[in-house]
Amino acid sequence: MPEFVPPLANDKNEKLNTWLDISPESDFGIHNLPYGIFSTPSRRPRVGVAIGDQIIDLAAVAMRGHFQSLSIEPEVLEQPSLNAFVRLGKPTWQAVRKRLTDWLTQTDSPLQHLRNECFVAQSEAKMHLPLEIGDYTDFYASETHATNVGTMFRGKENALMPNWKHMPIAYHGRASSIVVSDTDIRRPKGQIMLQGADQPMFGATQALDFELEMAAVIGKNSELGISLRPEEAEDYIFGFVLFNDWSARDIQRWEYVPLGPFLGKNFASSISPWVVPLEALEPFRVEGAEQQPKPLPYLQTSGKRNFNINLEVAIQPEGESETIVSQTNFKNMYWGVGQMLAHHTVNGCNLRIGDLLASGTISGNEPGSYGSLLELSWNGERPLKINANQTRTYLEDGDTVTLRGCARKEGIRVGFGEVRTKILPSL
Ligand code: MN
Repeated sequence: MPEFVPPLANDKNEKLNTWLDISPESDFGIHNLPYGIFSTPSRRPRVGVAIGDQIIDLAAVAMRGHFQSLSIEPEVLEQPSLNAFVRLGKPTWQAVRKRLTDWLTQTDSPLQHLRNECFVAQSEAKMHLPLEIGDYTDFYASETHATNVGTMFRGKENALMPNWKHMPIAYHGRASSIVVSDTDIRRPKGQIMLQGADQPMFGATQALDFELEMAAVIGKNSELGISLRPEEAEDYIFGFVLFNDWSARDIQRWEYVPLGPFLGKNFASSISPWVVPLEALEPFRVEGAEQQPKPLPYLQTSGKRNFNINLEVAIQPEGESETIVSQTNFKNMYWGVGQMLAHHTVNGCNLRIGDLLASGTISGNEPGSYGSLLELSWNGERPLKINANQTRTYLEDGDTVTLRGCARKEGIRVGFGEVRTKILPSL
């Protein structure tokens, strides 16, 4: 009897072959299939899926009737955000993903016949903010980051607050100022209390920083008054993006007591344009570190709550080449994303499609793996070398900061592309 061969499924770590020519070093191989919003000079923003250096124009595919059997109206894909598509629900995301995988692996498939009509070179497309973001929450889930910041702001003895190991700490951020990669940001101004001064001054921040984070995109509305358990919480996640939570440390330091971050944080956050589906990240799940003390029952999880995703940050001064200033991994987080959703909804607060839940700065244990300049330069005490002739404690006007992320395993690569931002001078 012939041996049973299970069908190929792209949530497993199996190699798939496609008729498309894709570099093995591409972030957007066949195991990824991330969603984004793109436009071309002749056509308005619409839904696409990245593959290699191309975009599959899903709206164009739907217009030709190819998603009719999945009950997807072409209008849903002709939108300037992914929200309407996400609203169709997980079974639809899975069906589209399976269909695209089948079509990309089978020769003579409808997609192969549509190569001229339904593919757009990424180099010819403009990427847009992929989501209509209703709310954005920023967690603080890296123990190293929380300890480092606590040490600098409050001293070693009070570094980790007594609540930190009992709940994923977070604050409500601002959604209106979230921008997509390649959107310049302006150095913010605000109140700053200089060291030794007895009055605050007003001016441009002298401590502009990035924060290397990942953000979960909420894919399903939760009900007001209802709490999610960590294991069901992940059904509420559509995917992940890279997230740069810009921070003005001097403004933050003066304003943050007693209610937490405000103007030192909400002037901008930047995200990568491609939303990597949770399904594409399944092969990269790993155990998290043991949580001691044991969290309260509503936060307890079993299984692999973290994801092995390599991350890096580069700084490029104006007119020069870039220097990689940090390399770390998303698997270093103390709290898992299921626990973040469970905690966020434990009081009955509802989550909505398009909300972003960012992880908080991702710092590893080594100095070269810290996810912010605050930590990398240790509050300005240890300037970083950039190229041969420059140093940085915080960012300067004209600097371009790029975050990159990529999961790799046994020849399979699922990448996030990048989020790249240039700093403009204050007005
Ligand atoms: Mn943050």
